[in-house]
Order: sequence, then C-alpha cells, then structure tokens
Amino acid sequence: MNCPRIEVDLRKLRHNTRTVVERLKGRGIRVTGVTKAVCGHPAIAQAMLDGGAEGLAEARLSNVKRLRRAGMTCPITLIRTPLLSQVDNIVQVCEVSYNTEISVIAALAAAALRQNKVHGVILMAEMGDLREGIMPQDIGYIGQQVVDMPGVALKGIGANFACLSGIVPTATKMQALTALANEVEGQCGPFLETVSGGNSANLPWAFSSRATGRINDLRIGEAILLGMDPITGDQIGGLFRDTFTLVAEVIETDAKPVSPLLGAADPAPTIIRLVPATSETTRIILALGNQDVDVAGLSMPAGSTLIGATSDHLVIGTIDPKLCVGSEMRFQMNYSALIRAMAAPDIQTNLHNDRPGSQEIDANGPEKHLALV
Ligand SMILES: *Cc1c(COP(=O)(O)O)cnc(C)c1O
Repeated sequence: MNCPRIEVDLRKLRHNTRTVVERLKGRGIRVTGVTKAVCGHPAIAQAMLDGGAEGLAEARLSNVKRLRRAGMTCPITLIRTPLLSQVDNIVQVCEVSYNTEISVIAALAAAALRQNKVHGVILMAEMGDLREGIMPQDIGYIGQQVVDMPGVALKGIGANFACLSGIVPTATKMQALTALANEVEGQCGPFLETVSGGNSANLPWAFSSRATGRINDLRIGEAILLGMDPITGDQIGGLFRDTFTLVAEVIETDAKPVSPLLGAADPAPTIIRLVPATSETTRIILALGNQDVDVAGLSMPAGSTLIGATSDHLVIGTIDPKLCVGSEMRFQMNYSALIRAMAAPDIQTNLHNDRPGSQEIDANGPEKHLALV
C-alpha cells in the first residue's frame, strides 16, 4: 500500500461527531462541523454530517469549492473573513459568512444582488483572543448597516477563543456574548438566528451545567477529528483519539552511533535528541519529513524516540526489532501535524468504514470497507 498515507476511520469520526452532537443537543446547542483541518475532504465532511452536524464551516474558498464539486449541498459557512477579491465566488458557494469589515460586507451585498441572492452575514465579536472580530461596542452600529443593506441579511453574531492569545471561553465570556446578542437585537431589529459561541475549546463550558443563554451553535473541528481538548491536549471522554493514523515506511536501519559526531561540518545548534546508546537501540530512517508533517506533533510508539527530521527524512531511535527496511510505522497526530499532513501532496488518504450502517451500534464492530481517494 502507498506510503506515506493517512488512514481515516470514518466510523470513529461519525461516533465522535454523534457523541458531541448528542451532548450539546440537550443544551440547546447545534454543531457546525469545521473541515478546514482536512482541506475540505468531502468524505470526512460527509461523516460529520452523518454524525449529526447541522452544516459545515470552512476557512478557505478553495476547500468550499472542493466540497461543492463533490456534490455536497448542505449549508457551508465561511468562518474566515472573506477576501475582498473573492466575494463573487463566496456568494456563489457559501450561504453565510463570518464578517468583520463593512467594506467586505458591502462587496458581498453587491455580489449577491448581481446573483439575485441574499447572502447571510454573521458578525464576529472580538472578545479577548485578539484575532478576528469587531469590538463589542461597535457591533450594534455595524449590524444596523447590514440590516439596511440590500443583498445581505444579518443572521447572527459569533466569537472565537483560544486561537491566537489562548483566551479561554469562560462562563463569564459566554454570558457577555449572550448579553451582546440581546443588545444587538434591541438596536438592529431582526432576531439573531445564530449565536455561535466558539470552537472546540468551548466544549468544557458547553458540557458543564452552566446556563447556555443565547448560545445555540458551536463550530467544532479538532474535538471531533482528534477527540482532543485543544486547551489541555487531553482526550475528551467518550471520543476516539485515533480517527487518523499516519503510516510511513522505513527506508534505512543501521548501526550509526546515535549521538552526532563532534566537529561535524555545521556549527549550527543541532536539534538532534540524544538517545541512550544501549545495544538494543537502532537508528532508523523513515520516508517522511518536515515537508509532509509537523514532526513534533507525532506521538511516538512506545520504545521509539524522535531523533530529528529534515525535509524528507525522519530519524527515530527504536528498540523494536520488527522495524526493518520496508516495514511500516504508525503514528497518531496532533492538530498541527494533521493539518500539514492532510495538505501534503505526497500523502494519500485512505478511508475506512465509509458507509454508515448497522455496524454503528457496535462502536468496535469488525466491518472494514476500504476506499481510496
Ligand atoms: C478553526 C476555527 C474553528 C474550529 O476550531 P477547532 O478548534 O478545530 O474546533 C472555529 N471557528 C473559527 C473562526 C475557526 O477559525
């Protein structure tokens, strides 16, 4: 089989999605599945929908186009502020976009009028993360302009946390967003259909017993893809951590000394990690490198240690005698490793269990359906 490759267990992905969807349903919050980490891979997006996500969200127009080309007809929301240069295409393929710039909203409105459409606008509020967002005190005024503008409709407000500055979405922040939603409605008129509280980092708050107020949507990627809490890096209870597995092939095993030679040509500080030079430790090389994946985000199997990586080589010290030339090594990935690996042209994506069915009842069912993409 092709190496390197990513094996995706879509049954586990559906399970993760369904688990989060069910837990949030009781709290009055729907899940929008975020596909940007997997470059808008249509089968992965479909698994999120099969698991109960109500729609999809993407950061890039190119990924939305990929989803539409694959025939996906569900609502797709653009969650990165639209590029002024892409408004026509965005109105064509997205029902709604998150916005922070009135000039962009005006351009979206003009594009929508040209296409005989009404484009939905969600205004992003800045609530501490200091990435995208309008200052809360300005949202009512901007919302009023959106309401008065033909071609666009004010659909809601949203906030984002824990991305740039690591600001945690606390109950206090969520109360502030609820208050903001009520204020904006008071000022601008229309009922806000969507009050989107944030991303995977909001789940500890959403799973708690704190009042959810007006928050009725979360945009979830990492938690359902990797079963991980992005703030703590811990596994989320009840979710699979191993939906994605990266498989790479061993191309060299040898008996080189594991410590770098003194007086080597390059005086730059090496990133080489020393592995105890025991007789059982072998140094192996895999056909995988920095160009394919964030190697620091790979979890090493027991008995193996990362020694270093270059653009095309991954060097590992291992005590596993089965890792000979031609054999495969399997890794779990963190978010940073996943996003780069999914975008790497040399890594194939293999889908397992791509059909929902009766086996879904048994979370560990034996059914294996393999499809290549
Ligand atoms: C990436 C992103 C998300 C999803 O974040 P996860 O941590 O993957 O759940 C949600 N909203 C916005 C604006 C994003 O950029």
